[in-house]
Amino acid sequence: MDIAIIGAGLAGLTAAYALTQRGFNCEVLEKSRALGGRMATRRYQDVTLDHGAQYFTVQTAAFASFLREVGAAEKMRPLAAPVVSYPFQDLAAALAEASRAAPAEGREFPHRYVFDSGMTALAKSIAERIGERRIIRECFVEAIAWDAAARRWTLHTRGDNTTLGGARMADWVILALPAPQAAQLLQRSQPLPAPFAQLRNALESVDYHPCVTVIWNATNETAYPGVGALRAAASHYPIGWLAWLDRIAPYRAPSGQSVIIAQFAPRASRALLDQPEGIALRALTLALDADLQIELPTLQWMQIKQWRYASPAATLTDLSGLSAVADFNVEACGDYLTNGRVESAFLSGLAAADRLTQRAG
Ligand SMILES: Cc1cc2nc3c(=O)[nH]c(=O)nc-3n(C[C@H](O)[C@H](O)[C@H](O)COP(=O)(O)OP(=O)(O)OC[C@H]3O[C@@H](n4cnc5c(N)ncnc54)[C@H](O)[C@@H]3O)c2cc1C
Repeated sequence: MDIAIIGAGLAGLTAAYALTQRGFNCEVLEKSRALGGRMATRRYQDVTLDHGAQYFTVQTAAFASFLREVGAAEKMRPLAAPVVSYPFQDLAAALAEASRAAPAEGREFPHRYVFDSGMTALAKSIAERIGERRIIRECFVEAIAWDAAARRWTLHTRGDNTTLGGARMADWVILALPAPQAAQLLQRSQPLPAPFAQLRNALESVDYHPCVTVIWNATNETAYPGVGALRAAASHYPIGWLAWLDRIAPYRAPSGQSVIIAQFAPRASRALLDQPEGIALRALTLALDADLQIELPTLQWMQIKQWRYASPAATLTDLSGLSAVADFNVEACGDYLTNGRVESAFLSGLAAADRLTQRAG
């Protein structure tokens, strides 16, 4: 049985891995060159930078054993410094609180992990297990078409490499994209059987927060000593997350230098999306000064990454849209079906593989 999985983020790769292990023939189609989706790592100026997800949790036995199974567990480490909520009255007390309260909650330092070589390490480990030949990169799925007589899907694709453009056939399709992109794919695929309108409506109802991320390098950044990252305690602060890479993953930063990652919170990101870089930089300068009393130093370099679909605003718990298309050999996974985190993307990929195994069996 041939299964086409659209999207090589963690959800899609997890589904591909689980189904391959069970003897299904899977092919993963990914529009980008890199794997991992929002677990995105880029090399810049000799530094390995995570532009998307900053860390992940391991709270379920399923994820822990998966990480071991795919050989990723040996490549991960807890954040090397604590995450502190801001604003706070007293730095020493806030640091003590961050280190003390965390393990009891089971979510905080040292229960946040990163990979030595960046977040894409997990996607690479899974891809090795699945086999590179099953993963087609730079292959954008333009549309899908259902052949009712043959009960098969045709996937119309286009790639940078023109030989990848064309049609691929599959018995099953798994949509492993953020909900808005899955809805756009269904829209481009018109006409589809009537029940797909219900699935498309459900996918369109999921709002995603954008995230504008600024990463820069400066010498001797000494603000908030001992703090690995600051996380806003309330949503009205423009900066949601501010991390020092040389503190949370010191083995990755050039010695004697600071690499700082700022993520704007959803409301500020929405205002900055599609704006020129200078505007984001100005907003960063103002917010650092007003809320954190940090003066933006002279930058050696700077990178800005805009994510249109960074994290789902809410989880899609009503699966009636998926049930409506139960006759058509289609499944879906992605963080919007769980709770918008790395670990939950994994869980949703696994759940889709389980549902498909049950339905195909
Ligand atoms: C800035 C940012 C910070 C974050 N921070 C954290 C964090 O610290 N901790 C945490 O746990 N989570 C974090 N997250 C969330 C986490 O990254 C996601 O929940 C998780 O990676 C989602 O995985 P996914 O497989 O569901 O989707 P994705 O990773 O988005 O994968 C979808 C894939 O589909 C591909 N695709 C899209 N359209 C097509 C098409 N038509 N054809 C082919 N391929 C297509 C995309 O290129 C992508 O590779 C963050 C996300 C962002 C953006």
